[in-house]
Amino acid sequence: MSSFYGKLGVTTVINAADSYTMIGGSLMPVEVTDAMAEAGRHFVSLEQLHLKAGEQIARLTRNEAAVITSGAAAALSVATAACMTGADTEKAREWPLHNGAKNEVVMHRCQRNGFDIAIRQTGATLVEIGDTAGTTAAQLEAALGDRTACIIYFDTPQYTQGALALEEVIRISGRKGIPVVVDAAAQLPPVSNLWRYTEMGADLVIFSGGKTLRGPQSSGFIVGKEHYVAACRLYTGARNSIARPMKVGKEEIAGLVAAIERYVNLDHEAMNEHYERLVDRLRTGLNEAGWNAERAYPGPTGQDYPLVHVKLNRPAAVAEQLSRQLLEGTPSILVALSPDKRSLVLNPLHLQEDEVEQILSRMRALYGWISQL
Ligand SMILES: *Cc1c(COP(=O)(O)O)cnc(C)c1O
Repeated sequence: MSSFYGKLGVTTVINAADSYTMIGGSLMPVEVTDAMAEAGRHFVSLEQLHLKAGEQIARLTRNEAAVITSGAAAALSVATAACMTGADTEKAREWPLHNGAKNEVVMHRCQRNGFDIAIRQTGATLVEIGDTAGTTAAQLEAALGDRTACIIYFDTPQYTQGALALEEVIRISGRKGIPVVVDAAAQLPPVSNLWRYTEMGADLVIFSGGKTLRGPQSSGFIVGKEHYVAACRLYTGARNSIARPMKVGKEEIAGLVAAIERYVNLDHEAMNEHYERLVDRLRTGLNEAGWNAERAYPGPTGQDYPLVHVKLNRPAAVAEQLSRQLLEGTPSILVALSPDKRSLVLNPLHLQEDEVEQILSRMRALYGWISQL
């Protein structure tokens, strides 16, 4: 237990679940905390810092341009506002937009999700296309008009069932000159996703700084074409606009740059081996304790790393009870459940080496409890 959290009476949690906002996203490596501390010791022009840091992130991620936001959700608001006004300084200060503005955002109905309030809070109206049974090119074409600001695409497997392929969305919207924004907040690894979507032709692509990248929890960024990124810069929060309440501090900007630099330079093959080793230790230890644990792939939103599924073959209520016991025990351990709630899901992404044994020890103790049900 950390002394800071301990003094406040706040419990620290072992994260065997995912980069969940509710438990703090991810943990910052020392390169990131050092960069933040250093940045906090000097005054600088926030606007200049934004520009230079954006250039550095564009270089590191092999993109034309980049802009920093206070998270991926803020990036959804910023990208939407930018597509509504373009790089028009006057319009960016005037809000709500007058009648006749480009205030429609096209989205697949099957991709509607909790984060889309960040799009709607700009005042944009969502125009939904298709459903989980499928979406046709004609439905997309019919939705695109003079009022369309952009199309926003969530590239996560649980949202792409029934959606048009991103390639097709890019082709159709490209013909009409309407920008495609991809929300890829959690889509790392592989590291190549940092440039893959823009290489496919997406105009703006959103990433979270506080998930796999292990930057500050309140950071995110948008990469893409200079023309659209220039419009996003009017909403960086260093200026007065609807994004002013989503301001990014100099410390978060510094931490994010350090995190991206660290991440792109990691030995990704060695990282994969590290995840496989953690998964193997968990799986072997759990099976020795009587549980039925298997390696699963890919990661929770289709990322390139393995997981452990602990098959319970019991009613959903048992899985819920088990995860609650893990969370409320000592140490407190957060795990995920499979969508059908018949398995526990253990994720190696944010596990420290010494936490594997702590998880195994708690699970050994809980095997007795579940056997007696
Ligand atoms: C996590 C997530 C977000 C929000 O990211 P923050 O950086 O926490 O704001 C947005 N969109 C998707 C698809 C996400 O997974």
